[in-house]
Formats: sequence, structure tokens, C-alpha cells
Amino acid sequence: MKEYDVIVIGSGVGGAITARRLSEKGARILVVERGDFVPRETENWSVRSVFFEKKYKARDAWLDRHGKSFDPGMFYNVGGSTKFYGAAMFRLRERDFEDLAHRRGVSPAWPIRYADLAPYYDEAERMFGVHGDDRPDKTAPSRQAPFPYGPVKSEPIVERMAQRFREQGLSPSALPLAVNAAPAGTCILCPTCDGFPCKIGQKNDAETCGVEPALATGRVDLMTHAFARRLLLSRDAKRITAVEVDHGGTIKRLSAPLFVVSCNAVNSSALLLRSADTGAVNGVANGSDVVGRHYMVHNQTALMGLSHRVNSTVFQKTLAINDWYFGDDAFRWPMGQMQMLGKLQGGMLTANVPYLPAFLADRMARHGMDWIGLSEDLPDPDNRVTLEGDRIKLSVTLNNMDGHIKLVRRMKRALQQAGYPIVITKSLVAHATGHQCGTVRMGNDPGTSALDPFCRAWDQQNLFVIDASFFPSSAAVNPALTIAAQALRAADHIMATDLA
Ligand SMILES: Cc1cc2nc3c(=O)[nH]c(=O)nc-3n(C[C@H](O)[C@H](O)[C@H](O)COP(=O)(O)OP(=O)(O)OC[C@H]3O[C@@H](n4cnc5c(N)ncnc54)[C@H](O)[C@@H]3O)c2cc1C
Ligand code: SF4
Repeated sequence: MKEYDVIVIGSGVGGAITARRLSEKGARILVVERGDFVPRETENWSVRSVFFEKKYKARDAWLDRHGKSFDPGMFYNVGGSTKFYGAAMFRLRERDFEDLAHRRGVSPAWPIRYADLAPYYDEAERMFGVHGDDRPDKTAPSRQAPFPYGPVKSEPIVERMAQRFREQGLSPSALPLAVNAAPAGTCILCPTCDGFPCKIGQKNDAETCGVEPALATGRVDLMTHAFARRLLLSRDAKRITAVEVDHGGTIKRLSAPLFVVSCNAVNSSALLLRSADTGAVNGVANGSDVVGRHYMVHNQTALMGLSHRVNSTVFQKTLAINDWYFGDDAFRWPMGQMQMLGKLQGGMLTANVPYLPAFLADRMARHGMDWIGLSEDLPDPDNRVTLEGDRIKLSVTLNNMDGHIKLVRRMKRALQQAGYPIVITKSLVAHATGHQCGTVRMGNDPGTSALDPFCRAWDQQNLFVIDASFFPSSAAVNPALTIAAQALRAADHIMATDLA
């Protein structure tokens, strides 16, 4: 086997950006990925293929807290979930890094502050070619560098709605977007972006912004169809010696001085738990017994405002509202964020609500203005990933819903006042896994966290976990930019320490 400095497991945003940074600084990397490349093909933009046939989703079955099997809707492919993401690239707010009182508890402080990540947020935005303008957003964190590109402009119907929100005293702002729209590239701002892979490679995701530049260094090998079964420990259980991989049916042991686990929150914690051994009976990196615990995924509700007018918008995901993020005069606890969804199509509605007649779904989609509310869920140790034999069990009880319910009510009222008298809502919490995080939390105390503030495992110092797992709290914005920023920070730390 070739010699590598680091083996990275998983090629989503955490793994890909780590591999890119390390390889650009001279390290030799092997990336181990269970999936394959998502082909660029006509079906990429087909509602039938993507939403009904679920062509690109993994055939996986986890158990819920009642032991009932469910399809978690995971994506196992090069680039991970970002091949399908909505490309909304938000920074956490400064206060998200501190203890933050909620109506039903405290969102815990991170072991780092916004200032620690700020320069890496700048870099991550450049890597992902983010378009944006957050000046109207009163909660926007301070920034040293401007957005790499100006905002993707709202189409007239969305802009009219934004104006009506402003008349109500709200401050809608441009959604920060990682698409290669002009002048950056040839993105055509099509209707099939949020939830779809990009047929023309213009979505800035972990493959195009992480894996491709990493491979271009010539120092990175990518092994696809390679499922990491478990990590193997040294006799004293203080180091990882190898990862055991099922590579297309052949079991291989791959070794390197350093390992980075980046399989996303559920699969990373499952890998660590599966790797339990005599020296680490609770699993790898789990002396604190936190691995798998504190699962978070955001409290989420979709809203569709209906009016008699047809909504002819093509690219709809251009606005966010953060006025209620930290609360308001009537409810002084955090409520969260509203952001637009990509334009829903009739088939996307019937795929999710099978009893909805197709003609009605089409009509609703034609007249609807589509939003999603994201609120923070709190890290409960009993919301957790465990293993039942080989199967993943995900036990989740919703929490901290008060702020979320208030957020949805406020948005409903705002939409009604903006000319959308009927507002339909649908809770997305049941089995939604897109924003999963928190299961291998970082912290300052090895007794209550699995990772140090650079994502290094306290128990096995040659192991890093760099993906959505490290979040101590979920905040109420989309996670990908924060994962990328921390990946850059952790990679720089690896270069300055282990690989110096
Ligand atoms: C439909 C959708 C829309 C979203 N929209 C947004 C958005 O607009 N903005 C945003 O910020 N976030 C969004 N997210 C969330 C975002 O995509 C994730 O938070 C982010 O991709 C997580 O990065 P990660 O590196 O932790 O994991 P992933 O991106 O999921 O990557 C994990 C990788 O590890 C691989 N893997 C897993 N297990 C193993 C194993 N045992 N062995 C080998 N490989 C393994 C997987 O195949 C995958 O490639 C969205 C998610 C979804 C599903
Ligand atoms: S909007 Fe742009 S980036 Fe998104 S799928 Fe369409 S062409 Fe690709």
C-alpha cells in the first residue's frame, strides 16, 4: 500500500475541505468514501427521479426510538449531502458561540468564539464562491472580508413580497448562496437546485470545492465504494492503528499516522461506537460517554403562502428573515430563522404527501411562496445514536419547540399581511436528518466532550472527527459553512502540530 500522512473517512464537506487544505499544504491523503460519484445526467433535474424514485438516496434503514425501521434519506456519494443541499451558506451569529438562554433551557457555549472562526469563514466563503449581502440583517456577525460576490437578486414577485415585509418593519436580507451565478460562472438559476444535484456542475459543493481541488494537487487518492467498518486500536487503546474497510466486498486494513473521521453526525458516531474494543469498551473517543449523544437536527417547519396570483418565480431561494432569531419584545427567547426554499413543484409535494391529489398539488405549487423555519433544538444526552447489532438506532424526542412555534406563527402572520391569505404549514421534524449534528461534541473538558477545540479526540490523539458531529449546539442556521470553516482551522492545526 502507498504511504499516506492522513486517511480521511468520508468526502462530504468536513472530509473534502480537510483533504483539500492538508493536500494543498503538502500532505499525502487517502480519502475513503462509501459511495460513488453522482453522475451528471438528465435525471439530476427530474422531480420524478429525485423525489419519487429517490434515485440518489441511499437504501438505508435505521431504527427509531420505538425500534421501528425508517428510511433516513441519507446521501452516500462523493461530496456527501452537499451534492443535494440548498447551498445556503450562513455563518453562526456571535452569540451562538456563547451560552444562550432559551425558553426551555440553555444552548451551551462552544469551546471557541466567533473570532476564532471568522478568518476561516472568510476563506470558506471564498472557496465556495458565496454570493450575499447581509447588511440589512441585524443579527449578522461582523465580517472582515466582504462576500466574494454580490447577492443573487430576487425575482420580481419575491422582491415585491420582500417590500411588503419591509413595510411591516421586518428586515429581509439576501440569502448567502454557493452557486456559480454570474459573474462567477454559468449557473442558470434553474428551478431544480434545492434538493437536486446540479447537472452542469455549477453548485459549489464538497465535490467541486473540496474533492476536485484536492485531487488536482496530485497528493490525494480517492477510494470509492469503501465502507469504513471500524477503527482498530493500539494495544494501549491510545492510538488508532488502522481502519478496516469493506472495499466492494473485499475487507482491507488501511494504515496511516493520522485519521480523520468525516461521515456526518450519525455515521461518524456509529463508526466510533462500532469500534469498541477491550481498551475502549464504550467505543473509540468515548471515555466521556458522549459519543452518539446530544443529537440535534433543528426544529423545522415548511410554510407555503398561497395567493390568487401565480408565482412564476424560477429561482426562489433568495431571501432570509432573521428578525426573530434572538427573540422580540413579546417573546424574549431565541426563535430562529426563516429562509426561502427552492420553488416547490407539484411532484415534490405529492412525493411527501402521497394522499394529496396531483392536480391540487400542481395548483398549490403554482400559487405558493415557499419558506422554511429553522429553530435551535437543544443537546439532550438522551437524543442519541446507538447500535442494535449492526443497525443504527436513532432515538429522538423533540425539545425546545416553544420558540419554533412562535417563529412559525409570526411568519404566518407576516405572509398573510404580505398578500398570502392562506398559509399551509408542515412540520418536517419526523425523521428529517439533513441538519444532523452534535453527536461527537467538542469542548474544553475531556469529561464532558469527545473532542478538543481543534476536533482532536481526547482519548486517541491521532484521531480527528471533522464534520457536523463536533457542534456543541445547533444554532439556527444551516451548518455547512461552519463545518467548512472549522475543517480549515483543524487542518491548519494538524499541519502546525502533527505534520509540522
Ligand atoms: C437536502 C439537503 C439540503 C441541505 N441544505 C443545506 C443548505 O442549504 N445549507 C447548509 O449549510 N446545509 C444544508 N444541508 C446540510 C449539509 O448538507 C450537511 O450539514 C453537511 O453536508 C454535513 O457535512 P458532513 O461532512 O458532516 O457530512 P456529509 O456531507 O453527509 O458527508 C459524509 C460523507 O461520509 C460518507 N460516509 C458515511 N459513512 C461512511 C463510512 N462508514 N465509510 C466511508 N464513508 C462514509 C458519506 O457517503 C458522505 O459522503 C442540507 C442537507 C440536505 C440533505
Ligand atoms: S441553480 Fe445553478 S447551481 Fe443550482 S442546480 Fe441550477 S444551474 Fe446548478
